[in-house]
Amino acid sequence: MKYVPDATGNRRFQHDKTVDRVGVDGLLSELDEYAVEQALQIKEKAGSPDDVEVTVLCVGPEQAVDAVRKALQMGADRGVHVQDDAIAGSDAIATSLVLAKAVQWGGGADGGGMPYDLVMCGMASTDGSMSVVPAMLAERLSLPQLTLASKIEMQGVEVRIQRDGDVATEVVDGAMPLVVSVTDQSGEARYPSFKGIMAAKQKPVEILTLSDIGVDAGDVGLSAAWTAVEETTERPPREAGEIVKDEEGSGARALADFLAAQKFI
Ligand SMILES: Cc1cc2nc3c(=O)[nH]c(=O)nc-3n(C[C@H](O)[C@H](O)[C@H](O)COP(=O)(O)OP(=O)(O)OC[C@H]3O[C@@H](n4cnc5c(N)ncnc54)[C@H](O)[C@@H]3O)c2cc1C
Repeated sequence: MKYVPDATGNRRFQHDKTVDRVGVDGLLSELDEYAVEQALQIKEKAGSPDDVEVTVLCVGPEQAVDAVRKALQMGADRGVHVQDDAIAGSDAIATSLVLAKAVQWGGGADGGGMPYDLVMCGMASTDGSMSVVPAMLAERLSLPQLTLASKIEMQGVEVRIQRDGDVATEVVDGAMPLVVSVTDQSGEARYPSFKGIMAAKQKPVEILTLSDIGVDAGDVGLSAAWTAVEETTERPPREAGEIVKDEEGSGARALADFLAAQKFI
C-alpha cells in the first residue's frame, strides 16, 4: 500500500519533477484501503482466522508509517515499512522491485520474514495512477495475477474473482500463491474503531532498509528510473460556467443546444 499526498490538500511537484511527498499532508491511498479491507474480510471468513496473518507493506518516506498505522488500526496484524532515502524518485519499475524483494525478504513463503499466500494491491495509486505495479509485482514474484477484482471468493487455495469490463463481466479463477488487485467496487473500506486504534499501538512495525532486503541502491531512485516526467504545468484556474437563462420559454432549447455542443447528449 502506498502513502500518497492528500488529494484535498495542496499537492505539488519538487524541482526534480517528482511528487512532493515530504512537505505535504499524506495518507494511505484510498484505493489501497480497498485491498486492506478485502484482506481483512478474507481473514475474518477463514475457518480459523487466527491462522491467517494480514501484513501490510509500504515503501515510502518516514511519514509513510502513518499509512501503515492506519491499516493496523483497521485490523491488519503487522506492518512492514521499507524506508531508505535512495528510494525517493523511483519509478513504478523500481518500486515493484523493492516491493517484490520486501515480500520475499527473509525467504518468503518458506523461510519466515513475510510468509505469504496472497499478495493484495489496490488497482492504482491516487497520485500516479499508472496501475502497473500489481502486474510488475506478479512478474517479479513469478506468480499468476488476477487484476481489477470487484469481488473475491476463496475456496481453499482456489481464488475466484469478478472483473467488470465495459461490455462484459468476467469470472477468473486462480490458485494461491498469487497476486490480486482490487477495485473501488470491491466493498466499502471500514473505518478504524476505537478498539482498533488502541490495539494498533501494540502491533509491530518493522522498518527495513534496502540492504535488509538485498536491493542495490543503484537499481532504484531517480537516476535508475526508466521513465521521467519531462514537464509539469499548473492546471489553469477554472473558468466561470455558462449560465443558460430561461427567457420567454427558450431556456430548454438553449440548454439542449449547449449540451449537444458539448457532446453530452
Ligand atoms: C504489499 C504491497 C505493498 C505495496 N506498497 C506500495 C508502495 O509502497 N508504493 C506504491 O507505489 N505502491 C505500492 N503497492 C502497490 C499499490 O497497492 C498500488 O497497486 C500501486 O501503488 C499502484 O501503482 P501504480 O502502478 O498505479 O503506479 P503509480 O500510481 O504511478 O504509483 C507508483 C509511483 O510512485 C512512486 N513511489 C512509490 N514509492 C515511492 C517513494 N518511497 N519515494 C518516491 N516515489 C515513490 C513509484 O516509484 C511510482 O512512480 C503495494 C502493493 C503491495 C501488494
